[in-house]
Amino acid sequence: MRKRKQLNRRMFLPKTVSLRADPSVGKPTEHRRHDSRNEGGPCMPQSQSLDSRRPLFLRQLVGNRSVIQRLSEQMRRGTVPNRVFLFGPTGAGKTTLARILIRHFFCHNRVGIGDVCGKCDACRKDLGDFVECEQWTAARLEQNWGWWESNGRSILARPNWAFFLDETQDLSELHQKDYYDQLESARAMVVFATTHRNALKDALINRFGANIYELRRPTIEEVTDHIHVLCVELKVEARKDRLALVAQHYRCDLRKCVDFAFTAADQAPNGVVTDEFLEAVLGTERADVANTTPRSKRLAKL
Ligand SMILES: [Zn+2]
Repeated sequence: MRKRKQLNRRMFLPKTVSLRADPSVGKPTEHRRHDSRNEGGPCMPQSQSLDSRRPLFLRQLVGNRSVIQRLSEQMRRGTVPNRVFLFGPTGAGKTTLARILIRHFFCHNRVGIGDVCGKCDACRKDLGDFVECEQWTAARLEQNWGWWESNGRSILARPNWAFFLDETQDLSELHQKDYYDQLESARAMVVFATTHRNALKDALINRFGANIYELRRPTIEEVTDHIHVLCVELKVEARKDRLALVAQHYRCDLRKCVDFAFTAADQAPNGVVTDEFLEAVLGTERADVANTTPRSKRLAKL
């Protein structure tokens, strides 16, 4: 049991957006997860933060083809949305998409359709290091509403700033009303994300005009392919049928599935995802489903 607990350590990391305890000082900082194997993609900064593991390009978003298509169309027409409302379940890619759009907003040399260059100063920096980028969860903002009252309007008035509010359903009704008013004159890029669209006033959502996007969790096949590619990059050996079990176990929650790949990179013996490792991380029942070797034989090997 002890062993499993240790292995599961990474699977329940805090939300990726970390916010300052005292909003009056400094910028929000990202949670940094140390991982010696993380080298990023060819265009990624060599930083070890979770942010550097997120894709830079719209086309890299897993699943959600219709959303990608719609945004690509908008970008092809030269109308990159600067007010975006994203909703859908956890692990569907809302934060990833929000960051892709914000990175696009900051890139100095955008190329192609909605693609960042991946090389400019802005692309090489962690989003958490941008003075011009505010990232909050609504619950945290509620706790620090005094700070927002003094700074919010001025942040939203700056055309070269980006404001990302996650878990927007945690905003009180009163503060939703405040945002409704503030967004009318906002010039900054504003992205709101929520898992509970119904908890928000329609009037507030309508402030985002047509730029409302529903994200869905990718299919098991899409998640399996994605983590398989990731495992190859991380030099982890993992059979696709085993990764399909991971996708199934986490109900295609991408964040948890991606975490699994990094857990395997850190902790799987010899970098190989074996049935034993799957069992240790996911629990014994799951590994049994796809395994062709009878359980008694496998246990005898141990
Ligand atoms: Zn760039």
